[in-house]
Amino acid sequence: MARTISLPGFVNAHSHAFQRALRGRAAGGDFWAWREVMLDEAGGQTEASVRALYARTYREMRAAGFTAVGEFHYLGADTALAAAEAADEAGIVFVCVYGAYGRGGLPRMRQESVAAYLDQLERLRGRGVTVAVAPHSVRACPRDWLEELGRYAADHALPLHVHADEQPREVEECIAEHGLRPIELLADCGCLGERTTVVHATHAEGHELDLLRDSGSVVCACLTTEADLGDGFLPATRLRHRGIPLCVGSDSNVRIDPFEELRQLEGIARRQEGRRNVFSTDELWEIGGANGAISLGLEAWPTIEIDPTHASLEGVAEEHVRAALIAGCGADVVVPPA
Ligand SMILES: [Zn+2]
Repeated sequence: MARTISLPGFVNAHSHAFQRALRGRAAGGDFWAWREVMLDEAGGQTEASVRALYARTYREMRAAGFTAVGEFHYLGADTALAAAEAADEAGIVFVCVYGAYGRGGLPRMRQESVAAYLDQLERLRGRGVTVAVAPHSVRACPRDWLEELGRYAADHALPLHVHADEQPREVEECIAEHGLRPIELLADCGCLGERTTVVHATHAEGHELDLLRDSGSVVCACLTTEADLGDGFLPATRLRHRGIPLCVGSDSNVRIDPFEELRQLEGIARRQEGRRNVFSTDELWEIGGANGAISLGLEAWPTIEIDPTHASLEGVAEEHVRAALIAGCGADVVVPPA
């Protein structure tokens, strides 16, 4: 092949690799009905199935230009090791964003106590797995769990990831239980900060966005999944105006394409602002790569090679390639790793 173009690799800050198996299934008329189908799929996963499905999915990610992945894992401790091995096999940098689940979901997702969760997390660390603390959500973790996990992550200087404000019902339930919206509750429990990533924030209101800004927290947008699940629109321009750092994740892995995630982000922002070029090309590349690394606590991740002779780049001047990749290319412009 002719000369390739080296660019920073993308960082996938939020993945549930097993959900790749659900793509194309029409079942589940809304998020909550889809969630039942998802739980059913989760319930059937074994160490062997995780090892095989995740290795395939991570190879797809690596081929698409994601060179690091934060796997938000809530299928239990044994399968977490299988996921780490699958990532090794696929040659992708791996962070186990290990889910704490206090209530709801399936029995395999839950731990008896925060102490039991931390024991599992420390065992993973002891096996050489890079980890992040991850109270699953304000649905799955009661207040005392959030407080303890926030403290632990701060004491150990670990990243903390948490889903919040993905669905209106989740917000309503949180207000009913706590008198607070999800991100207000997280702030109250000491779960926000520069090492925190809030996944989605789709329905975050002004005060919640201010709390994210004031605490230096990151928001992980999962654009293709949020579209697929009918979650709503990321408040992209409101986040940007506050200077809240964004990163991206392929989440349910209905699509695995960093360019498409970034294109949807910029597309939402353009529709919200009624103008073009809301995020600059440099900003979008940072969102796709460096910000994801910050979110996962990574200092380094591999670069990627782009094929400039690909049909979708034909006639594009070299100085426009980085913008053209996001505006109009699919992940097949990435040269697969040797
Ligand atoms: Zn998620």
